[in-house]
Amino acid sequence: MDNFDVIVIGAGPAGYVAAIRAAQLGLKTACVDAFIGKEGKPALGGTCLNIGCIPSKALLDSSKQFHNLTHSFKDHGITAANPAIDVKTMVGRKDKIVKQFTGGIAMLFKGNKVTPYFGSATLKPNRVVSVKGADGAVTEISATNVLLAAGSKSIELPFAKFDNKLIVDNAGALDFSETPKRLGVIGAGVIGLELGSVWRRLGAEVTILEALPDFLGVADRDVAKIAAREFVKQGLDIKLGAKVSKAEIKGNTIEVTYADAKGEQKIVVDKLLVAVGRRAATQGLLAEGTGVKLDERGRIVVDEHCWTGVEGVWAVGDCVRGPMLAHKGSEEGVAVAELIAGKAGHVNYDTIPWVIYTEPEIAWAGKTEEELKAAGIPYKSGTFPFAAIGRAVAMNETAGQVKVIAHAETDRILGVHMVGPVVSELIAEAVVAMEFHGSSEDIARIVHAHPTLSEAVHEAALSVDKRAIHKAN
Ligand code: NAD
Repeated sequence: MDNFDVIVIGAGPAGYVAAIRAAQLGLKTACVDAFIGKEGKPALGGTCLNIGCIPSKALLDSSKQFHNLTHSFKDHGITAANPAIDVKTMVGRKDKIVKQFTGGIAMLFKGNKVTPYFGSATLKPNRVVSVKGADGAVTEISATNVLLAAGSKSIELPFAKFDNKLIVDNAGALDFSETPKRLGVIGAGVIGLELGSVWRRLGAEVTILEALPDFLGVADRDVAKIAAREFVKQGLDIKLGAKVSKAEIKGNTIEVTYADAKGEQKIVVDKLLVAVGRRAATQGLLAEGTGVKLDERGRIVVDEHCWTGVEGVWAVGDCVRGPMLAHKGSEEGVAVAELIAGKAGHVNYDTIPWVIYTEPEIAWAGKTEEELKAAGIPYKSGTFPFAAIGRAVAMNETAGQVKVIAHAETDRILGVHMVGPVVSELIAEAVVAMEFHGSSEDIARIVHAHPTLSEAVHEAALSVDKRAIHKAN
């Protein structure tokens, strides 16, 4: 049996990053993954690279270009005869990008001397890992440390089982061969909004059914309100308080039954995307007697250092507590690799940025006003609209604002909430400031280039003390 210093189970952004960092630190490392890509071959990179972050961004970008061509180019004086989208070419481009990145990880593994194993891994007692390949052959390997980074899977609704033709999960909604005429989406969360936006921009009638009465309950209320207004303008039909009870396939369509305040309703759609959340992919991961515990949601129980409580067994990413975000998993992976190597690994969970890649984009870090009110923490806040930012006006992307929330007494930044153009990038400034325990005055005193979108962050920080220059305070 081959023996390693570290075996990582899962080659998603948590696992592959951990494996590379462990190898960099001189540890003999293996990484096991079971994912089979579109070409029927093993593909590293997990959900993020194969069927998540990267392919969805590719389609979001393609569909945004098409939407601009059909909607906003005319404001710039640009017209084109008969604009059309070839969905197969768009999806093909996405597949090429995925292949480039999954292949890139294979190269990085080679370069860093990480040994890849392809197959489904089960942890046995004493840190023995059995790997069952696609051909059924089982290989056993062992290690001083095992890092579980098994990721997550889409939650399936019992009345709307995925057939990946008519009723699809996120992976299915990345691979439609043509724009559906009517797309139903269950769940107005991150996936529902991002993939709903892709197909809406290409012309689908998109109806999103959300069980909760509030839109984007996890986000700042102003951000949610502005985003909802913009999404409605784009033609996304978002029905809140809509509890779906049935999805019946009738020929080539799906009849979806839901109940809202007005009673039972039905819609008929050509494709149905179920995006009601994800669960930890821990089924079959642990053999009897490992001592690793799962919580009531099937997640691996870990402490603040991602340690399972069993000697040499760690867990990171979507299969443990905390937000299911690629960058959160990657940072945990690095921290654990460093702890294993005797270094000081650490993740600051208070400054993890959230991004939703809709149009306008949504991004935040830290606490919302609602959370601060509930915790009884005194705060002050300042906002600034993109409509007053020269660069945003020049770009024709004026919807949205930046809000900076600071402690009422110490001025320490507690949260920054953005909705607007390219805020996925602007949020980095807020994260840096918060990581360095910065105050709103710190951002207010930093020189921001003009004309840039970042001036909205500067002005929002100035606005905390009612001294924004380009708006009435
Ligand atoms: P989510 O938790 O973001 O949203 C699911 C939504 O479905 C919720 O609003 C929930 O109230 C609703 N819902 C649940 N059951 C329902 C039902 N029966 N009928 C109607 N609505 C129902 O989950 P998601 O969008 O599936 O995404 C899964 C995970 O992937 C999330 O944790 C998310 O953070 C992550 N993700 C992140 C990104 C990103 O960072 N940009 C992108 C995609 C996914």
